[in-house]
Amino acid sequence: MILIVDDTPENLISLKKVLEKHDFEVDTASSGEEALKKVLKNSYVLIILDVQMPGMDGFEVAEAISGYSKAKETAIIFLSAANTEFKFIAKGYSSGGLDYITKPVDMNILLLKVKTFYRIYEQNRKLNEMQKSLLEEIEFRKEAERKKDEFISIASHELKTPLTSVKGYVQLLERSVNKGDTETVKKHLDKAQIQLEKLNALIADLLDISKIESGKLKFNKQNFSIDCLLDNVIEVMNQSNPEFKIHKKGMANSEIYGDEMRIEQVVVNFLTNAIKYSPGTSEIQLTVNVENDELYVAVKDSGIGMLPEQLDHVFDKFYRVEETSQRFQGLGIGLYISSEIIKRHGGRVGVNSVYKEGSEFYFFMPINLKTED
Ligand code: ADP
Repeated sequence: MILIVDDTPENLISLKKVLEKHDFEVDTASSGEEALKKVLKNSYVLIILDVQMPGMDGFEVAEAISGYSKAKETAIIFLSAANTEFKFIAKGYSSGGLDYITKPVDMNILLLKVKTFYRIYEQNRKLNEMQKSLLEEIEFRKEAERKKDEFISIASHELKTPLTSVKGYVQLLERSVNKGDTETVKKHLDKAQIQLEKLNALIADLLDISKIESGKLKFNKQNFSIDCLLDNVIEVMNQSNPEFKIHKKGMANSEIYGDEMRIEQVVVNFLTNAIKYSPGTSEIQLTVNVENDELYVAVKDSGIGMLPEQLDHVFDKFYRVEETSQRFQGLGIGLYISSEIIKRHGGRVGVNSVYKEGSEFYFFMPINLKTED
């Protein structure tokens, strides 16, 4: 918007008319004082300022405006009786631009100058916008880079832990074999096996992440019984975690069309987390049902729970709740992979949780979505 400041009403009206005819939005002020009030309230691209006014003259107005942060980018065109006056223009004025036109005003020249200032203003605005989005992009990349570095360091640590255990058990095995102590050999073999499985699961997760990133996570979809899948998973989990009892509530009684192994991976991830993040408790509830051709599976624990602001991020890649990340091992990718798997089955994941009381992770998915992914 342009502000015209002139104490002669005829000048104001004629300038306003010409500029409006050329599609400029125009505001007017008939004194320096009124102009200052308006500049404080509104943003102007350009001020056309009469130099000779009773009260505050044009130069005084310009000097006052130069102190307003709001008017930093505002250009000024002075209307002066003689061009020699121009050299008195307020010192230190650091606006977007200064220019002058001698009276009587040649409208063609004024229009030319106004258009030039508008073009510069537009270019500046675009440059500023570009700079802002570039800075945002740089920040975003820096943050992604930081997260990746952090992840690599956590991943190496997580991989090293089971590997070191396996190394230790193999050494112990050697000693037991030499002693001919088959009982202990068996014990160490079992323990090494558990650590190898951990290693295997970690590497599988890492591979899944890179497959998701490169769009190469493929699904082998067919009909399967979700009730059988859940019963098997619960049996295996109960065996490997005898201190926990997983109760199943409900039945699907329907065939599901999807990638059985991937859906199993999601359920195992929910249950593993429920166990991991619920120390000192012993009950987990798994609920399943099918309603309106939609499968619902939920895993509820009475563990450490989470705060509302943490819930928004649990399905994000690499996210781990900061305050508990030292206490529990993990890479912060299991839930991200789970949510990708469910999304690619046309479903959605979610979580309810109360801090220090427990969490419930669930997913919904159509039971018979035949489209590819
Ligand atoms: P990981 O367990 O390897 O860190 P996940 O992606 O499976 O990675 O989980 C992400 C984060 O969500 C965990 O680090 C933990 O802070 C939080 N979380 C997941 N499941 C639970 C749960 N059942 N109870 C409390 N917090 C959980």
